[in-house]
Amino acid sequence: MFAGPWIRINGNPLLMINIIERRFSILGQIFWPQDTVIFAVAMLVFITSIIIFTTAFGRLWCGWACPQTVMMEMVFRKIEYFIEGDSAEQRALDAAPWTAKKFFKKFTKQLIFLGLSFIVGNTLFAYIVGSEKLLAIQLDDPRNHIAGLTFMCLFTLLFYGIFARFREQACTFICPYGRFQSAVLDENTMVVAYDNQRGEKRARGSAARPSRHARPRATATASPAANASRSARPASISATAPRWNA
Ligand code: SF4
Repeated sequence: MFAGPWIRINGNPLLMINIIERRFSILGQIFWPQDTVIFAVAMLVFITSIIIFTTAFGRLWCGWACPQTVMMEMVFRKIEYFIEGDSAEQRALDAAPWTAKKFFKKFTKQLIFLGLSFIVGNTLFAYIVGSEKLLAIQLDDPRNHIAGLTFMCLFTLLFYGIFARFREQACTFICPYGRFQSAVLDENTMVVAYDNQRGEKRARGSAARPSRHARPRATATASPAANASRSARPASISATAPRWNA
């Protein structure tokens, strides 16, 4: 993901979506506004593929491959756990009065988060304007790149807000993929869900109901983001998800 803007094929970026100059590079092939028809067809194929994939495999992408998930669960949350401890320790730290130790932990965490957000924001910016332009903005006289620097700051603040504060709310409120998933999941989609018919023991004394079938239909794709992304999953699917193959 981070190397993408710097990789060149035939001298062109691997991927560049330069909306400002209406210049696009996909796998080193440059596309211009007059290639809109190709782009439209490619988008239709892309969207159709996403719908079919999601209908079959549910939130597999969200749980394992989405950059938001990967960065949140494998980088930012790991750093948070390293600095502040597990969730119980974090709650205790939040409730504790401000001391030098608490200030140091919070400040260090936020500083690291801001630095990482700068890298992520610049990477996305490089996918838009190209790596050469990004370097020019960073190294040239700032007075010549007021707009570029403004966008750099905005992108940094955007990702800082997502990773440090809003987190999974990005899936619920911002991501278009998360918004339309409820429309493409059906009863045959693979989901991570409690199976009513299988009747796992939930607590002492609760009886497990034996299954009438040999194997569960829904294969769990439990992932680091399973908990994180649960909120984006529609209630209607939760109600119908636990099912078995006939
Ligand atoms: S819903 Fe969340 S995890 Fe899924 S693609 Fe969107 S941002 Fe990524």
